[in-house]
Amino acid sequence: MGRSSRLRRLVDASPIRPLVAAVLRKVWNMSECIFCKIAAGRLPARILYQDDLVTAFHDLHPAAPVHILVIPNRHIASVNDLDPGDEALVGRMFTAARRLAQEMGLHENGYRLIVNTGPHGGQTVLHLHLHLIGGQPMKYPMG
Ligand code: 5GP
Ligand code: ZN
Repeated sequence: MGRSSRLRRLVDASPIRPLVAAVLRKVWNMSECIFCKIAAGRLPARILYQDDLVTAFHDLHPAAPVHILVIPNRHIASVNDLDPGDEALVGRMFTAARRLAQEMGLHENGYRLIVNTGPHGGQTVLHLHLHLIGGQPMKYPMG
């Protein structure tokens, strides 16, 4: 058996192989993720707010007169991928949404905050995002 096949068999049998695959998958997802690109300024968006943790911008296909997305700057695929260490970040997403709702004049009549998760939740972009929707009365559920 040649040296490279021996090395290949060693790598295939290695217990760290799934970990390496997971890291490579995450790096690949981040490089392709449209919301990562928006947060990094590499894809145009109508950005309303950005700080060290979150970015907020207008949804491309608004479902109501006001439809804003609040995202973490760092790639987190969904609520399923949150850790206890992300609690400050999740709090910032909500306080940013609250401030934007006030700036948009939504706070008196109210608004809706939605986080779709996974296929049954209707999540289409696999980067965590909080929808801030308002400017009209809404029925529940929306669709
Ligand atoms: P989801 O269905 O995953 O909860 O929501 C994804 C949202 O992202 C949708 O409301 C969709 O209109 C919005 N969206 C998808 N691609 C883009 C984009 O390139 N730019 C902006 N601004 N919004 C997008
Ligand atoms: Zn991302």
